[in-house]
Amino acid sequence: MTYVDLVLQKLSTDGEREALIGGDTRLTRSQARDLLFRLADGLTQRGVRPGDGVAAFVGNTPEAVLLTVAVHLLGCRLVYVPPEPGPSELAALVKRAEVAAVVVDPAFSDRLDGWHLQDLPGDPVERTPAPGHTTVSYTGGTTGLPKLAVHRSHSTARLEALRHMPPTNMLCNTLITHGSGAGVSMAALVVGSKLVLGPSTFDADTFVRLARDEQITTTMFVPPMMYEVLDHPDCPGPQFLGIGVGGSPLAPRRLRQAIEKWGPVVFQAYGMTEALGIATMPASDVDFARPETLRTVGKPNPGIEVEARDGDVWVRGPMVMEGYWGEPPLSETADGWFNTGDMGYFDDNGYLYLNDRSKDVIVTGRTSDNVYSRLLDDFLVTLPGIRQAAAVGRPDEALGEVVHLFLVPEDGHDVDFDSIRDSVVGELGELYQPSGITIVPQLPLTQVGKVDKRRLRSQFR
Ligand code: AMP
Repeated sequence: MTYVDLVLQKLSTDGEREALIGGDTRLTRSQARDLLFRLADGLTQRGVRPGDGVAAFVGNTPEAVLLTVAVHLLGCRLVYVPPEPGPSELAALVKRAEVAAVVVDPAFSDRLDGWHLQDLPGDPVERTPAPGHTTVSYTGGTTGLPKLAVHRSHSTARLEALRHMPPTNMLCNTLITHGSGAGVSMAALVVGSKLVLGPSTFDADTFVRLARDEQITTTMFVPPMMYEVLDHPDCPGPQFLGIGVGGSPLAPRRLRQAIEKWGPVVFQAYGMTEALGIATMPASDVDFARPETLRTVGKPNPGIEVEARDGDVWVRGPMVMEGYWGEPPLSETADGWFNTGDMGYFDDNGYLYLNDRSKDVIVTGRTSDNVYSRLLDDFLVTLPGIRQAAAVGRPDEALGEVVHLFLVPEDGHDVDFDSIRDSVVGELGELYQPSGITIVPQLPLTQVGKVDKRRLRSQFR
């Protein structure tokens, strides 16, 4: 049995209940079930067979969610296509993924050739889900083409644990083609929740409207999204049963603000494309009197092994990818272990703390010391008048790199470089002292909504 069986079970009961909502489309469970089978049939009629690769270049629509389930229903290899690259890179990525078919949202068809999603549905032929399926997800990548992380069906087996949970009204804020949005969507369908899809590019106004109109009770944020909602004049009150936040570093001050606003329903999650769901910190374990409980990403999730080796976080388990497409599996190269690229440590009670991503660490000074940019980011937003902050390394002939700050001030607030520098040195020491500041109206975000430090650094190269 796979998660697809569980989705079908839910879609086959209480057919009039709403299942999927996005834009102007509203599908009941029975309409969603019908479309799921039609999409699977459309793929089959066009010659797609179990094991084939099917690339999905799609936005956040109900039809696209059902397409991804249909590909899995047939036992195929679902290849998510990243939103960013231009046409030639996209074509190269799809070629490298060795797919038999490409399905595109017609709105994106000027960038990639493929079957149009809206033309795909065939007949509503009922099918039994294939016993296994594969998902290939793109990673952020540093330069050039993204790497492709391969997950077999055991990575969705964890969803079985959710089958008896009570249904909620779930709002998905991130791309359904990224691990976060894909995980949220699949979980919502397994639980039998009403899944509402936010736009492919997040905006707080739409969130506020959907949270109110759709009576949303569960959602998941990447931290910058949550900050925007918290700062919104019409920020919703304590209507939620659960709010996950993760995907990039979460400022302790903001986590506290969220728990104060929405109650002990806000939990932090740590995961990545290559290792879905590494650790979770439930709000019930947070104690404002112990500030470290706002900094930890929690304890490892059941079934995953996590080790901090010389400051690097390594993981192993069913939710860790098999390997990168076209490369030897991790089981051959590292006994299944994967180096996350995150730097961190455990405390004596088994809670995991992340210092920084290794590529965001600023290496500076004559002794090449490590400045954890994340520590700076978290501290800067505790200063009066600073709404958002991102510290990056700026190349420097004498010192290798120096600390440069990008700051978003609160409206009408002047930023004084000397006082910021003094505060930083007072709190974190000389090593962390900034050598420059750029004031910006907002920080650049990736398509998934995370602060794009790579783009900030590129201004200096
Ligand atoms: P991605 O593969 O795009 O989902 O990015 C994964 C990376 O996001 C991880 O390797 C971490 O660096 C970062 N990340 C995810 N969750 C958290 C979290 N709760 N706190 C800090 N960083 C996180």
